[in-house]
This record gives sequence, C-alpha cells and structure tokens, in this order.
Amino acid sequence: LIDVETVRRVILSACRVLDPAEVPLGDALGCVTASDVVAGHDVPPFPNSAMDGFAVRAADTAGAPVTLDVVGTAAAGSAPGAEVGPGQAVRIMTGAILPAGADAVVMVERTSPVGGTRVVVEVAATVGDHVRLPGEDLRAGRVMFDAGTELGPGHLGVLASVGATTVHVVRRPRVGVLSTGDELVAGGGPLRPGQIRDSNRPMLLALVARAGCVPVDLGTARDEEGAITAAVERGVAGCDAVLTSGGVSVGDFDYVKAVLDKLGEMHWWQVAVRPAKPLAFGTVGSTPVFGLPGNPVSSSVSFELFARPALRQLAGHRQLLRPEVPAVADEALHRRPDGKLHLLRVVASTDGEGRVHVRPSGGQGSHLLRAMALANALALLPDGEGVEVGGTVKVVLLT
Ligand code: AMP
Ligand code: MG
Repeated sequence: LIDVETVRRVILSACRVLDPAEVPLGDALGCVTASDVVAGHDVPPFPNSAMDGFAVRAADTAGAPVTLDVVGTAAAGSAPGAEVGPGQAVRIMTGAILPAGADAVVMVERTSPVGGTRVVVEVAATVGDHVRLPGEDLRAGRVMFDAGTELGPGHLGVLASVGATTVHVVRRPRVGVLSTGDELVAGGGPLRPGQIRDSNRPMLLALVARAGCVPVDLGTARDEEGAITAAVERGVAGCDAVLTSGGVSVGDFDYVKAVLDKLGEMHWWQVAVRPAKPLAFGTVGSTPVFGLPGNPVSSSVSFELFARPALRQLAGHRQLLRPEVPAVADEALHRRPDGKLHLLRVVASTDGEGRVHVRPSGGQGSHLLRAMALANALALLPDGEGVEVGGTVKVVLLT
C-alpha cells in the first residue's frame, strides 16, 4: 500500500500547466490568468457624483443653510453641460460627470427646492464630498490582477470595466471520460440479466465540468482490448487528460490495465485509502491518464483525491487541494484499524457559533452512490478506531 501524499506527488510531477490562450470574458469564469492583467484606462474614467443631489462649490455652502441658483441638470451618460459658478448649483444624478467649477455634491435629502430655479442647501459641504475621482478604483497601466489569479465573477466585472473583451488565461483543460465494462448500458432501456447502467460517466463528466474543465464524452467501451485501445487513443489525441473507470482491479476481464501498459508509462497502485484503493496513473505520450476504480463511490472519491488536483494544476491553479477543517462528529464515526485512511461520506453543517458538525450521509459501502450524492464533505479518519460522538474529525468540504 502507498499513501495518498506520495501518489499525489507522482501524479502532480507528471502534469504541466497548459499553454495560455486569449479567451472571451464570457468563457473565462474559473480560468487562471496566464500573465499580469493591466488596466487599459482609469476607472472611474472621469470625476462623477456618488449621489443624486446638487453639484456645488463647497465654499459657497460654508454658511448653510444657503440658497443657490440652479443652472442646469447633469444626467449619467451625458456630456458635460452647465458649469457651476459662484452662488450656483447643478442638479446632478449618480454617475453623472461632475460639472466644471463644482468640487462637491450635496445629497438631495439635504436640500429643498425653492420655486423652479433655486435650491436651499441645508448642510455645509466639504471639498470632495460624494465625488468619485478618476482612477480611484483602477489606474491606467497598473496591474489589476497578478498572473495565477483565478477569475471569479468580480474579476470578470473588473475586466469589463476597463473595456477588456478577452483575457489571457491558461487554456481550459479538455478531459476525456471513458467507462469500461461489459455490464454497462447507457440510457433508459430495459436491462438484460447482469446489466447495470453506466453511472460513472455522467458523474465524472459533471465532476470534470465542476472542476472548471471541458468534459469530453468518450463513451462506454466493452471489456475488450481493441475497444478500450481505440477509445483511449481517441481520448489522448483530443484531450489534455483522460479518465477511465473500471477494469483496474485484479478481475479476469480488467483489460484497462493491459491496454494502458501497452500504450503508456503506467503506475499501478494500491493506495492506503478506503474507498478508492486501486488506482492507475501514467502518461500516454505526454497526456496524463487516470485509471479510476469502477465502483461509483470509489471512482468519485478517487477523482476528488487524485484527478481534481491534477486537473487544477493543468489549468494553472496555485491552490490545488480543498481546505480541510475540523468538525464535531454528531454521530460516532467508527472504523477498524487496517492501515488505511478512511474517507466517510458526511453531511456537514455549521452551528450558530461557526463550528462545523458532521454526520454520515448514508451507508458507507463503495457501491452506495446515493450516500455520496447526499454528502457535501468527506470526513478523514486516520488509521485507528474512529471518533466518538462529540469528538473532532478533519473534513474536506466538497462545495
Ligand atoms: P471493475 O473495477 O471494472 O471491476 O468494477 C467494479 C464495480 O464497479 C463493478 O460492480 C462494476 O459493475 C461497477 N462499475 C464499473 N464501471 C461502472 C460504471 N461506469 N457505472 C456503474 N458501475 C460501474
Ligand atoms: Mg469491469
């Protein structure tokens, strides 16, 4: 048996960051910047009002309340209009250019109109009140985001604010997903004796998508060398990484092992972990290929432990692993010593004091996929007897 960290180290050393590409903003959510991103112009681009109110000369309001002449209106999106001279004010809307001559804005709630053309300002303004200055948010030519930044919704907003339509990011990895097994059928038709439905492929394709990669469906291959070889070759030719499931144990019809050994440089591991003990990893050409176990829970946990960090590395992420947090066990989490790390499917929730609590999401067999689906965390039980009610356990939050 080999431990999780050693396996991860070998895998990550075989996974290189992909080439950069210029990607439209609308496709860049979750991508990682490939170079420093520089602002094309100031934001805001001009001095403007942070309030609906009146643009004034602050000095005119020193003796407030004061009455000023209203000489115009400035709306957002309009070119500059009236200037503000001594004793004057311009009615102004949020986002409108601050008129020449004005140096402050008084919010409308602190004013009252007098007839149609005059306004009483009830408070003394200070220079700069409610005025947003050019470049306060972003300065032209300055780095907005370092290389290696994961782009979230806010980053895309910032990029749009400086007029960027594309962004230089690490290319999104294309990841092929192949199921193997004579027993597998896809879709909703009747099952013949011995058949089951292919649940791993939709699940792994979704895990790939959620990891920020492009899922590529390689279909289901029967337990034959020819079929598996053709599918893996197709995957390697069109993808940056390939995931297979099934056929990596020691059964009589586990041909994935034979095929991958012929095509590439493979490791065959028995990892000291439960579920997800059997794992194959290697490269075919330079493409990383993961032979994940067939049992659906094992497949999913194996993806989480080994494939996801590797795909994140391909995509240029600096943070490869999810955070681990301590949690209170609301039910006993018992296990037997067997030299392995156990990963329990658990539901985690937060109490009023901010502590995380966990309880099992269902049965822990590696064929019980529903308990995996209902789990939002994996509890890490090191070798031993497990944890009693109220005890502390480390968990990996999956969401
Ligand atoms: P294997 O690793 O091929 O021996 O498969 C181990 C177990 O996982 C067997 O019970 C298989 O029927 C099951 N299995 C393998 N692939 C899939 C799949 N794509 N969807 C659902 N179950 C699978
Ligand atoms: Mg099989």
